Amino acid sequence: MTAPLIASTPPGDGQLNAMLRARLRCTVALKRVFVWYIELIVQLPSEITASMLFATALIVTLVVGDFASTFFYHVPQHLWFTLHLRTHHDRRRSYFDHAVLSTNPAVLLDGLLGAIPYLVVAALVARLSWPGALAGLVLGQLHVWWRHTTQLRWLTPGWARRFLRPLAIVLPEDHDGHHRNPDTEFGDIFRFYDAPARAILAWLAPTSRRARKAGRRTTRRVPAGA
Ligand SMILES: [Zn+2]
Ligand SMILES: [Zn+2]
Repeated sequence: MTAPLIASTPPGDGQLNAMLRARLRCTVALKRVFVWYIELIVQLPSEITASMLFATALIVTLVVGDFASTFFYHVPQHLWFTLHLRTHHDRRRSYFDHAVLSTNPAVLLDGLLGAIPYLVVAALVARLSWPGALAGLVLGQLHVWWRHTTQLRWLTPGWARRFLRPLAIVLPEDHDGHHRNPDTEFGDIFRFYDAPARAILAWLAPTSRRARKAGRRTTRRVPAGA
């Protein structure tokens, strides 16, 4: 018989299932890494501490900001809303125009809403290092401009491609794929968000605007009284 899943049950007595044990191990490992990091920072000379905090704030702003923007704005927009599709994916105009040049209020609103998660994360990590958080936001904005340059026929040089591929950074050629087929290449800055984003899109597809519209079309085609 399966033992009850009680979180307070002490580990190791065989009562917790594999998932709970794995989660517990993960939490303990994370706590250890955090304590190790704080102890390391406290022992280091202040200049090194400042650089580590700078790098941490910068990386967290980009990685967590992209996570939040992808899963709390970009994916929901593709599923249920129209603003992002009407603006960023408007095929009547060049996407470089939408992303870099346009001052159209709807285009700017889409950009702002997509940027809010980065701003929130930056505000939180500014306590660690405000220059690091600010540098993260500046790099994020530079990446917005750069990832839309394929329409200017810019090509990522081979050396940059070799350097950035192992870091899973979105290249302009990758983001061009999102504009050619909006169901692919999610993640603004990091490609590792693409697979989970697509999985969520597939999972929630029955609830999407597209599915509702398709349902309405099918209903309309069915003759009355059938
Ligand atoms: Zn884009
Ligand atoms: Zn999109």
